[in-house]
Amino acid sequence: MVSRAAMGEKIMRVGLGFDVHPFEDNRPLRLAGVDIPFPRGLKGHSDADVVLHAVVDALLGALALGDIGEHFPDTDPRYHNADSLLFVKTAWDLVCQQGFVLANLDVMVLAEQPRLSPYKQQMRLVLAEVLEAKLDTISLKATTTEGLGFVGRVEGIAAQAVVLLEKGRNH
Ligand code: MG
Repeated sequence: MVSRAAMGEKIMRVGLGFDVHPFEDNRPLRLAGVDIPFPRGLKGHSDADVVLHAVVDALLGALALGDIGEHFPDTDPRYHNADSLLFVKTAWDLVCQQGFVLANLDVMVLAEQPRLSPYKQQMRLVLAEVLEAKLDTISLKATTTEGLGFVGRVEGIAAQAVVLLEKGRNH
């Protein structure tokens, strides 16, 4: 059977990611691979980079390849304090192996504190590099929750990511 891509048809896959990590004292705060000055970091088995974890789940979701916990279990000592860019690179390799390229990525970070606007551009640059993408295909936005919920009480940070992958015509 001739694949849809081989027939010149464009194939698009969308993926959704979501993650939450609580704050913890005496940890560095790293979001999208960028170290951000703040008295507390995020608690987790790896470096707890909540933004990158959401991106990994979006990439895996687009390909129906399960979730980050299946690929990088938090019971595995290899991932203790691991740099989450490794997880993104691994997920991106899976995308590339299937012949997809990134159409665009849209990330929303939910944080009452710290203010992320000074770091958004740096975070976009890191994401564009690891995903081998043009900067104008990488969006990163930040919002508070107006003091409501666990984000509003500054108990943790949440992140959402949506990714669109494509292959076929022109690829
Ligand atoms: Mg996580």
